[in-house]
Amino acid sequence: MSSVDDDLTPRPALDGDTDVDVCVVGAGYTGLWTAYYLARARPTLRIAVVEAEIAGYGASGRNGGWCSALFPQSVSALARRHGRAAAVALYRAMQATVDEVGAVTAAEGIDCDFAKGGTITMARTPVQLERARLDIQEAREYGFTEDDLRLLDAEEAARRCGAAGVLGATYTPHCAAIHPAKLVRGLARAVERRGVTIYERTRVQEIRPRTTVRQGDPTGTHPNGTVVTDRGTVRAATVVRATEGYTPTLPSMRRVVAPVYSLMLSTAPLPASFWAEVGLARRETFTDHRHLIIYGQRTADDRLAFGGRGAPYHFRSAVRPEFDRDAAVHAALRETLAELFPSLPDDLEITHHWGGPLGVPRDWHPSVGLDQRTGVGWAGGYVGDGVGTANLAGRTLADLIAGADSELVRLPWVGHRSPRWEPEPLRWLGVNAGLRVMTAADAEEARTGRPSRRAALFSRLLGG
Ligand SMILES: Cc1cc2nc3c(=O)[nH]c(=O)nc-3n(C[C@H](O)[C@H](O)[C@H](O)COP(=O)(O)OP(=O)(O)OC[C@H]3O[C@@H](n4cnc5c(N)ncnc54)[C@H](O)[C@@H]3O)c2cc1C
Repeated sequence: MSSVDDDLTPRPALDGDTDVDVCVVGAGYTGLWTAYYLARARPTLRIAVVEAEIAGYGASGRNGGWCSALFPQSVSALARRHGRAAAVALYRAMQATVDEVGAVTAAEGIDCDFAKGGTITMARTPVQLERARLDIQEAREYGFTEDDLRLLDAEEAARRCGAAGVLGATYTPHCAAIHPAKLVRGLARAVERRGVTIYERTRVQEIRPRTTVRQGDPTGTHPNGTVVTDRGTVRAATVVRATEGYTPTLPSMRRVVAPVYSLMLSTAPLPASFWAEVGLARRETFTDHRHLIIYGQRTADDRLAFGGRGAPYHFRSAVRPEFDRDAAVHAALRETLAELFPSLPDDLEITHHWGGPLGVPRDWHPSVGLDQRTGVGWAGGYVGDGVGTANLAGRTLADLIAGADSELVRLPWVGHRSPRWEPEPLRWLGVNAGLRVMTAADAEEARTGRPSRRAALFSRLLGG
């Protein structure tokens, strides 16, 4: 947030009770894209966005800036569940979303350093190279061509991303590097220009679905949903929950997603000599084919912004600001970065450390939907792939609310319901065991040169 072009002064909070047509809870990408597309399609609707902190306070203001076509479920897993055509349609919709974000941000004058340089996923061990080949094979089986995903040999991979020990890579053009906070802050302003009211520093305490008015019922139950906040009550025909990793803090939502932390760091701007060696000339986002995800981008001002998972899950799905920093994880990230790019200076200056919660559903399957009976909509469970996906969700929710019969509302993630996570202490044991399995699997593969069977088993347990 420190490099955005506004001073982050909070907008006014809700001041008493109000009535609107649509009330969105959460001013991250999901809530704001929903408000944006809805206001664009139906300019006369009264739309309010209610945010506990300030717009972009959540993951949307602090992510790795991969606006990608990634979806946490593989295309084969989606095909097994929803059929081949539906799986391919969802993947194609995700690809188109990257261009949609580029087009809308340009049209709205949102300067978010958007650069569509694609993603390079390096293979740095023979096991990772085999995984890269399998990814290509799976892509071809579903009709994705060289224009979607291709294998790079060691020379081309190293030319694009000069990390140590690169044996090859997969490359997809379907990703743009963005500045996350500039996107979300600019989007909030674009939404306001379309007449939406954003209430900040207004914490929602409860979302009460609308109840049907029974004929002749003297108690007069209300045909609107009610959003109860610490600053008043918003009544709305439709309520959208867009709270992602913070969802467990709402009543009776503790088991909807597990808030798993992803942590990041940023270097000071690096010299031209470093970039001459490392490349990333088109600001390709980069990662490798290990299990416990790492991710990076070259920022518009020539820093490396780099992150990874591995921070512990906190008992009872706790979400607290102090969890955004973890000295051990940040030290491990710095070590990994130095190992990837040995030409980084020994006295490398790390200017920022931060992190935030991802929303991980029990089956790792994101979803979007609107319950017509209760008037409550939702989107999320993106795991770590929410930058692009939230735009697709916003467009989809706008169509669902407006009653438009579009291709978007027929995509297979619409209306999907993930099972709830187990109660504690099982959830704590399971999520942290999973994180440990992935870390151990990477070490095992580096040691043995063979694919880890426990990682495969774990991934099957998740249905991936
Ligand atoms: C460190 C990190 C790196 C990531 N990197 C990437 C990446 O490179 N690419 C990618 O695709 N995804 C990435 N992600 C995930 C991505 O950022 C999220 O999936 C996405 O931003 C989710 O957007 P959202 O609007 O649904 O949720 P959020 O941005 O989290 O917004 C939810 C909002 O709801 C508000 N809220 C919560 N509870 C209440 C309440 N009771 N009342 C009112 N408001 C409330 C919060 O304050 C918050 O502003 C990353 C996430 C993290 C944490």
